[in-house]
Order: sequence, then C-alpha cells, then structure tokens
Amino acid sequence: MGNGKKLAVSWITFSCCEDSTIVFVEMLNDHFFEWKEKMDFKYFPVLKSKNNDFTGTDVAFVEGAIATKEDEDRLKDIREKSKRIVAIGSCACTGLPSAQRNSFDESTKREIMMIVERFGHLEKVHPIKDIVKVDYSVPGCPMDEKMFYAALDKLLAEFDVK
Ligand code: SF4
Repeated sequence: MGNGKKLAVSWITFSCCEDSTIVFVEMLNDHFFEWKEKMDFKYFPVLKSKNNDFTGTDVAFVEGAIATKEDEDRLKDIREKSKRIVAIGSCACTGLPSAQRNSFDESTKREIMMIVERFGHLEKVHPIKDIVKVDYSVPGCPMDEKMFYAALDKLLAEFDVK
C-alpha cells in the first residue's frame, strides 16, 4: 500500500518521431496498475483525449527538440509551470537526430531557408537544455528504459510518493 500521495505528471512532445512516447506506452503494459496509484496524469494526450490540463504539474516529461519560436515559448511556459523537467530521449537531450539540419552544408541550408523562414523555425534546432533548466535526462533513441525507471524512482522519492 502506498501513502496516498501522487506525482502530478505531464508528457509534452516537440519536434521528433515520438518513439519514446511509444516506449512509455509499452511500459504501461507492465506498470499501469502500479503507476496509476502513484501518478496523476495531468496533460497526457497520448493517454487521454479529454481533460488534458497542465495545472499543478510536478514533473513535465519533455520529448523532442526545439525547432520553432512557438515551441521555444511553449517550453519556457512549461518550465514556469513545472517543478521538475525531465528531458526524454536523445532529441530532447542533445537535439539529434531531430537537429540534423544544423549540420547541412551551405547550399542545402539555402534550399531550406524559405521553409525555415516561412514557418517560423529557429535558425538552429535545439536540445531543451539550450532553452530551459533541465532537472533529469533520460538519453537514448528511443529513451533508455532503465534510465527512465531510475529517474522516475528518484522523482517519486523526491516528492515522497510511496
Ligand atoms: S530520440 Fe530518437 S526515438 Fe526519440 S524522438 Fe528523437 S529520433 Fe525519435
């Protein structure tokens, strides 16, 4: 039996292929009943289509890289509203592979310039730590499951969820 406390969690995805989201959903096959007693899923579109509300989030799991000004502003807002941020997967931790265009040669960069400017993309694609403070990182492409469990255990202990 737990102590009745729950970790308020949200899951946000920026530019990426969302494979770490799939890994998380697969993990629920083994942990759903245990985790639903320990976590309150606040903003979690992959698990629910209604009542996604970020309010009161303790931990924001953030997947993907930051490619647009709009995403940059959204990430800053998430930082302000969350007690902890966890970078999920390589794209969030390092930018790559979503940030491939950063290393395009000059002629390829010129070719994509019109799209970059037209859709409000940033000059470079960024890992989330370039924009906000990150408390925990779960690298891997997709995320390393063992490292996710380790980060979650630390967070549950930090927020005294048993
Ligand atoms: S880190 Fe890999 S699996 Fe995760 S979003 Fe990026 S490309 Fe996809």
